Amino acid sequence: MRIWLSPPDVGSDEQHRMTQALQGGWVAPAGPDLAAFEADIAEFTGWPGAVALSSGTAALHLALLAVGVQPGDEVLVSTFTFAASANAVRYCGAEPVFIDSDRTSWNMNPELLAEELAEGAARGKLPAAVIVVDLYGQCADYDPIMATCREYGVPVIEDSAEALGATYKDRPAGTLADIGVFSFNGNKIITTSGGGMLVTPDEEVADRVRYLATQARQPAVHYEHTEVGYNYRLSNLLAALGRGQFARLPQFVARRRAINDLYRELLDDVEECDFMPVPDWSGWNGWLSCLVFAVPGVSHRVHNALLGSEIESRPLWKPMHRQPAFAGCRSRVDATSDHIFDLGLCLPSGSALTDDQVAEVAALVRSKIRARVRS
Ligand SMILES: *Cc1c(COP(=O)(O)O)cnc(C)c1O
Repeated sequence: MRIWLSPPDVGSDEQHRMTQALQGGWVAPAGPDLAAFEADIAEFTGWPGAVALSSGTAALHLALLAVGVQPGDEVLVSTFTFAASANAVRYCGAEPVFIDSDRTSWNMNPELLAEELAEGAARGKLPAAVIVVDLYGQCADYDPIMATCREYGVPVIEDSAEALGATYKDRPAGTLADIGVFSFNGNKIITTSGGGMLVTPDEEVADRVRYLATQARQPAVHYEHTEVGYNYRLSNLLAALGRGQFARLPQFVARRRAINDLYRELLDDVEECDFMPVPDWSGWNGWLSCLVFAVPGVSHRVHNALLGSEIESRPLWKPMHRQPAFAGCRSRVDATSDHIFDLGLCLPSGSALTDDQVAEVAALVRSKIRARVRS
């Protein structure tokens, strides 16, 4: 592949920091970079609790445990997401219930959420938590979502795996609900190759999560355990990489947004496609540039044409209510995410992409849409 969808963009500063960590002898799990990476993120979010973990999925799992999700509980989850959001619910022995998107942000529809909570209250079974996803680097509409969830006393986890650096009404992504989760997987806006972070305004929650993430060891020399823990901590070496990447976050956000602006400009006159809508309140981070075509079939055709030129593109996330792994789960859907999934495509969006490469991709997209229009 010549052009990847969202490859890591790692420079000499990151290499230097990792070498320093190695030379300093900090290969063993914990170390100064781990604490410093957490402090960086805590300062950035304004929330004192930040726990570096081995993945965003691990962070979601511990977030669910931290808000008290138990086997047999229901957890409402955005249906339009990557499977990790829903998998974490199953790790707790709980059942996901999928909520559809709205057309204005592609994220959880606050009205469908309110309907589901009202019916749950009437049935006498409220969900134990809600996981709201910030898709493709854009926040959901948290004011109505949080107002409704507060009314019913249901805790909310923000799956901001894709949205580090985004804002909602000038507030940072990750801090818009009760607990926030970031991912530093290889394709995300910053990467530690694999990693994640849980953020919380409550330092006691952070302590509890850190304890669960390190095998739930009691403070005793002989390895005393009163409950089952997990091996979910990020390593110090990867935290050193994370610090270097985090220092470049503003640069990455600016570049990815500029790439999106360029795609929009180059395809502005093409009526047969639209980009992900960005509402006034959204300061998105530009993670992936997503298109929706006017008619079905074009997405497939464009994907194949790009592949033929060794350019990677991807369909949008296939909604969870359509995944065999979650067949039988309840859902409250109105075909919005089905529609976006059927028509959509993610274009190459990596921060190292050149303007010429963006122009090459846009020209191919244009030629395939027009091919369809002519036939
Ligand atoms: C990537 C992603 C995750 C999982 O993060 P990992 O670090 O890969 O475990 C969770 N939710 C969403 C929406 C994601 O995109």
